Amino acid sequence: MTKLTNAQRKAIYKRDGYMCALCGSGRYLQIHHYIHRGQGGSNSPHNLITLCSDCHALAHGLNLHDFPDMTQEYVEQCILEYLADYYAPDWDPWE
Ligand SMILES: [Zn+2]
Ligand SMILES: [Zn+2]
Repeated sequence: MTKLTNAQRKAIYKRDGYMCALCGSGRYLQIHHYIHRGQGGSNSPHNLITLCSDCHALAHGLNLHDFPDMTQEYVEQCILEYLADYYAPDWDPWE
């Protein structure tokens, strides 16, 4: 698995306005692969999104008990819509 370079990370943060693409928080930002690397997702910006640590945990199905209104499916759907809209009609998150 190829790790993201700092330049790749910075480009994603910049695209997303240095805030979480789901909740708008600017704290504890992390990069998330929409399609996980092990499932064939690429390191292209089409597959990467800026999330805060809370939303990132939700995207991985963690800490859901802290956010009773949220489901992992809902978070994944929001990420899909964000990326698909951003790169429409040529969205391609696959390697
Ligand atoms: Zn967030
Ligand atoms: Zn992730």
